[in-house]
Amino acid sequence: MTMHRATKIVATLGPASSTPDVLERMITAGVDVVRLNFSHGSAQDHIARAALVREVAQRAGKEVAIMADLQGPKIRVGKFAQGKVMLEPGAAFVLDAARSEPGDLQAVGLDYKSLPRDVKPGDTLLLNDGLIVLTVDKVIGEAVHTVVKIGGELSNNKGINKQGGGLTAPALTAKDMEDIKTAMSFQCEYLAVSFPKSATDMEMARQLANVAGEPWRHKPALIAKIERSEAIPVLEQILKASDGIMVARGDLAVEVGNAAVPALQKKMIKLARELDKVVITATQMMESMIVNPVPTRAEVSDVANAVLDGTDAVMLSAETAAGKYPVETIEQMAAIALAAERAEDVALDADFTNKRFGRIDQSIAMGALFTAHHLGCKAIVALTESGSTALWMSRHKIHVPIFALTSQQTSQRKMTLYRNVRPLLMPSYTDRDEALAKAEALLVDGGVLKPGDTYAITCGEPMGYPGGTNMLKVCRVA
Ligand code: PGA
Ligand code: MN
Repeated sequence: MTMHRATKIVATLGPASSTPDVLERMITAGVDVVRLNFSHGSAQDHIARAALVREVAQRAGKEVAIMADLQGPKIRVGKFAQGKVMLEPGAAFVLDAARSEPGDLQAVGLDYKSLPRDVKPGDTLLLNDGLIVLTVDKVIGEAVHTVVKIGGELSNNKGINKQGGGLTAPALTAKDMEDIKTAMSFQCEYLAVSFPKSATDMEMARQLANVAGEPWRHKPALIAKIERSEAIPVLEQILKASDGIMVARGDLAVEVGNAAVPALQKKMIKLARELDKVVITATQMMESMIVNPVPTRAEVSDVANAVLDGTDAVMLSAETAAGKYPVETIEQMAAIALAAERAEDVALDADFTNKRFGRIDQSIAMGALFTAHHLGCKAIVALTESGSTALWMSRHKIHVPIFALTSQQTSQRKMTLYRNVRPLLMPSYTDRDEALAKAEALLVDGGVLKPGDTYAITCGEPMGYPGGTNMLKVCRVA
């Protein structure tokens, strides 16, 4: 409990990380949220992995959240007779929605049947994460005729993006709707929606998730993956309809161009925090560690800069799902984040300038931050049922760690993603003084506080009601 890292780590599970031993070492090394990628694997695989996560986390004595990441309308080419082809620059190549036989060097079928109606001559299509570039020449019936601009190897079921956006595929597919039911069966704390274009996409996903979660009275938090150019102009609406966003740099870079992504990352992180939402920065953060035991200097800077931008979490994909060094990747990422946080400027007073906090609970949360910062407190302690007090506190940079004490396991798990928040389980007490004493004892026992230390603590009276925070106290450990 004593070593406090503010930035959280989301790690994707896969073949490289699905044994109890490796997963336990990853959790011990610093994983806060485990991502199950529904683009791969069966429902049974995900159910088994979720059970493994719960079991191993308990054994490791650390709470982790599960994030189910829906596949979404990944727009893909079909299969090839030989599994793959080598496209040469200048060659003609046809993407044919009507083709049912396997592909060859001239043409391939499409999973996504609407493509011919979504493109026009002159459009740029990017295949396999942008490694292959095709220019649309003409559309005849169901066949999109293209010319290869940048060639390369194209294999079965590789993804297609259109530069500038404009593909009409809906965000939630029939598969996603089934996957939501699977994810709710193990009560994932976070549900990530791929390729949303609007707030409506998120509202729809929320409704489906809440209905599917009803048997367990479970409502997951929703993460909108920002990876379509259409999502950028409506970012604020999407944020308001979600609990958080993912800066999904892989698909986003293909749609808006690589060069636009760093500035968008900063903009997204800033806006998310202003709107009291969480934000995850994702894709290729430690990419070279898929095969190497150390990251590149550029990757170190990328992770550190995401931390300085204010991200709640940094995410690992193939590095932990299929890489050679899943545990080492977590260790190194944790060390980079920690060093970046220590170097960070805190401008808390400026955060409050020209801001109005109209709610009692939110004002108390801000009061605790201000007080702890100015007094140089060792810790901020929030007794919170839903976790909202801790969420508000965590939207501001401060070098004082926040300990969120809740009696609700779901709240505790959700808070694992919040920056600078260490969520802990504590039974609820109806007597305020008893609750305050137990909270202090918990942190003293955990080695966070020692005699003479001051800390700021918030709670609500009467105790135990969500949204009831109305009290701030500064205490010194006797
Ligand atoms: P994905 O999303 O890994 O599911 O494609 C992240 C991204 O596009 O960056
Ligand atoms: Mn993506």
